[in-house]
Amino acid sequence: MSKYWSETTKNIEPYIPGEQPKDRKYIKLNANENPYPPSPKVIEAINNAANENLQLYPDPNCDELRNTVANYYNLSPNQIFVGNGSDEVLAFSFMAFFNKEKPILFPDITYSFYEIYVKLFNLKHKLIPLDDKFALPLDSFCIENGGIVITNPNAPTTKYISIESLKQIVKYNIESIVIIDEAYIDFGGESLIEFVDNYPNLLIIQTLSKSRSLAGLRVGFAFGHKDLIEGLNRIKNSINSYTIDRLALAGAKASFEDEAYFQNIRLKIIDTREKIVPFLKELKFIVMESKANFLFVSHTTINAKIIFNKLRKCGILVRYFDKPRINNFLRISIGTNEEMEILIKKLKQIIMEIEG
Ligand SMILES: *Cc1c(COP(=O)(O)O)cnc(C)c1O
Repeated sequence: MSKYWSETTKNIEPYIPGEQPKDRKYIKLNANENPYPPSPKVIEAINNAANENLQLYPDPNCDELRNTVANYYNLSPNQIFVGNGSDEVLAFSFMAFFNKEKPILFPDITYSFYEIYVKLFNLKHKLIPLDDKFALPLDSFCIENGGIVITNPNAPTTKYISIESLKQIVKYNIESIVIIDEAYIDFGGESLIEFVDNYPNLLIIQTLSKSRSLAGLRVGFAFGHKDLIEGLNRIKNSINSYTIDRLALAGAKASFEDEAYFQNIRLKIIDTREKIVPFLKELKFIVMESKANFLFVSHTTINAKIIFNKLRKCGILVRYFDKPRINNFLRISIGTNEEMEILIKKLKQIIMEIEG
């Protein structure tokens, strides 16, 4: 605390990212990172970019990258916004579109950044309680609001919402912006991306951090009507014209040009996820059905925090949220098959130790 802090700085409670400890080598299943490296073509593109013109500013409009992504998704480049990670795209969207007079709606259990942005930008909000199976009550989104944000599949619950349900919410709320955060959509869900032409109030946000193994590069996207994209550009160009550096532009573009690699990694993770579930159930975990690169699990007899701490001592990091309704759950990212085998082995030992 310093007397020089503004009221906002004093009052904000910043997001706490999954820990990246350096005291020993851990199996990292706590930040939903991809266990596989990015495509070799991405590394080559970044190397090449490092050898060209780093003394010059990058293209502030990300034209080449947007053209590549537009081709990939069959959109027009003016329907695409590029940001420094999707967290930045989310922050810009909250600034660009959300109405200060009315509450912003999002689920009570979801990505915790939304609540932080709401406070940071002095917005009002109303939490929509998920039901006791963590499903989204559609009717609750049919009330006056200043904007809506929904993660699909949801984090950390892994629960997937059908595009039909989401379309209903988008249609009903034609007077406000509906943001769908699709950070995990490539792991088995269906994206709403092809509907951005149908709904002028729909903004889809995606990231290269999870399915494309590029958490370290910081690239995220928004897809929407060209007027929404123009709104995001107005905010971005009022803060920082060059949010995407030359290495990120080159690496991101190369990622979309290596479809075979992307599909291979994506399917490997889905395959590992499906393989691991029966083993967890055998150990008496309740496992939410997941369409993400992580699982949300709760043990029938042993407290989640105890398991979390014991796993940490064994060199395995998972995520535990000390929050109402989910404080007996663990969020476990899908690693390689080998990592998940070690996880199961350690869990077996921990349960044996406690239950005898
Ligand atoms: C990981 C994640 C993000 C942030 O991704 P970055 O692009 O790395 O900033 C956004 N939303 C959700 C729901 C996430 O889980």
